Parts: sequence; structure tokens; C-alpha cells
Amino acid sequence: MQLISSVIAMRETSRSVHRSGGKIVLVPTMGAVHEGHLALVREAARHGDQVIVSIFVNPTQFGPKEDIQAYPRSAEEDWDKLEATALVHTVFAPSTREMYPTPDMLTWVQVNKISDHLCGGSREGHFRGVATVVTKLFNICHPDVAIFGLKDAQQFYLLRRLALDLNMDIELIGVPTVREPDGLALSSRNKYLSPEERSQATVLIRAVSEAKERILNGERNGRAVVKLMRSILAGADLGRIDYADVVDSESFQPVDHLNSGQIAVAAVAVQFSKARLIDNAIVEVT
Ligand code: AMP
Repeated sequence: MQLISSVIAMRETSRSVHRSGGKIVLVPTMGAVHEGHLALVREAARHGDQVIVSIFVNPTQFGPKEDIQAYPRSAEEDWDKLEATALVHTVFAPSTREMYPTPDMLTWVQVNKISDHLCGGSREGHFRGVATVVTKLFNICHPDVAIFGLKDAQQFYLLRRLALDLNMDIELIGVPTVREPDGLALSSRNKYLSPEERSQATVLIRAVSEAKERILNGERNGRAVVKLMRSILAGADLGRIDYADVVDSESFQPVDHLNSGQIAVAAVAVQFSKARLIDNAIVEVT
């Protein structure tokens, strides 16, 4: 496993993989590696010859009220966990200057509509930062395939649309959410929960699972499903509901009436004292 931190060296490596007929799979991360990220790596290894894991805490996806300095960083542990998989060829960990060589960025990637609601509604500028940095990573690493977690379903569907709209020749694959035994989605932010908050945090998986079950049992009224999720989330009195919504997976707009054949996403976010948690369930309406 090699460490690359310069854009030029990363490009040269990708070019030589392609020259020798190899297929590149990229797994973008912000580090603080956990089992969720490792599931992405294992999926990546199934799709190509050369797995690149990028580690970059992207400043442009943090809102004005969010503290990027507080984001967990654990470079050495990350390296050990990735090396232990024996599946990663390259860790691409650039500095902010490498990724943003121009201090006054004039060009941004904005995916409209899909970024309006949910995390896009409560985190100002977040998806513009995500879409821009992922475009940069694609331009630097030249992947044939890129792997993302469905825990961030809005991000996944938004990036898939970005690749489609901009004629990118990259296949995007979504990996199901990896969870703790009690259902809590793994997240680098879980470590900021107090023991009481940690036990209340299972409201998220309960809310989206019950929403999914309700829809599969025939509920077609989106608002009724939202009401159900809110009543479950209200059980966590240490958390504040950021959002609870049922949206269409193509547009990420809220749906009042669910139609057969539609893929819906029941999504929730809860703010605890030091951690904002998200979860979702993807449901194919029959
Ligand atoms: P992050 O480092 O949090 O930006 O996440 C990097 C990638 O890992 C994203 O594609 C996330 O969706 C994915 N990811 C994060 N947590 C999980 C999880 N619990 N299960 C599956 N994928 C995850």
C-alpha cells in the first residue's frame, strides 16, 4: 500500500494503471476509518484491479456554523486499518493546498433540486462542496468505478446524477449501511455521544425501519409516514429532530403520495449535543 499526497503523483499512478489495462476503483472518505468504510473497500476490490482510498477532510462541505477543526482525525489508525484489509493499493491523502491550489475558487459544481432538502436544507453549501470535491477527485484519480455508502443516500443519488449530467464515464456503486448490533449506523460522529445519547440514538433506525415497513404494508400517504417517524424520534428527549421526510430518490423532493414503481427514501436527522446523526431506508413502492 502506497501513500500519495501530491496531485501530480496521483495522476501519474492512475495513468500507468490505465496504460497497463487496469481498472481503477476509488473510495472517497474523510478518514476516521471504521467498518462502514472497510465495507466500501471490500466492495471496491470486487470491481477493479487498483483500489484507491482518498482521505481528505474537505473544508468546502462544512457550513459556516460547522467546526471543521473538531472533525475526528486518526491518520495512523486509518493507515493500519486500510493496510490490514490487504485490498488497498493507494491511499491518496492530499493537503488542502493540493486540492484547492487557487485560494479564490471561481468554479463550483452545483447539483440543483436534489440538494434542496434534507441535509442540503440544513447544511448550507454542503452539497456544493461535496459535488466540487468529488469532481476534483474524479479528475485527479481517473476512476472507472467509485464507491459510496448508502448511509448518505442523498449524497449518493446526487453524485450519480452529477456523473450522468456531466457525461462522466464513471460507474457509481452504493453500499448498504453498516450498523452496530443494535442497528445504529456506524459513523465517525458516534464517539461524540454521551452514554445516554448513545442509547437514545437507536430511534433513528427504528424510525426509518418502521417507515419502510409501513410503506411496504401499503401506506401511500407520505405525510402519515413522516408523522410516524416524528413520533418515534420524539422518544429521544436528548436529541432535536433536524428533519424527517419521505422523498423520491430521483428528485429528493418530499412526496405526499407514494406511487407504485417509485423508489422512496425515508430519511431522518437528529441533532444530539455534539453529534448530528442521519439515517435512511430506501423503499421500492410496490
Ligand atoms: P465519510 O468519511 O463519513 O465522508 O464517508 C466516506 C464514505 O463512507 C461515504 O460514501 C459514506 O457514505 C460511507 N459511509 C460512512 N458510514 C457508513 C456506514 N455506516 N455504512 C456504509 N457506508 C458508510
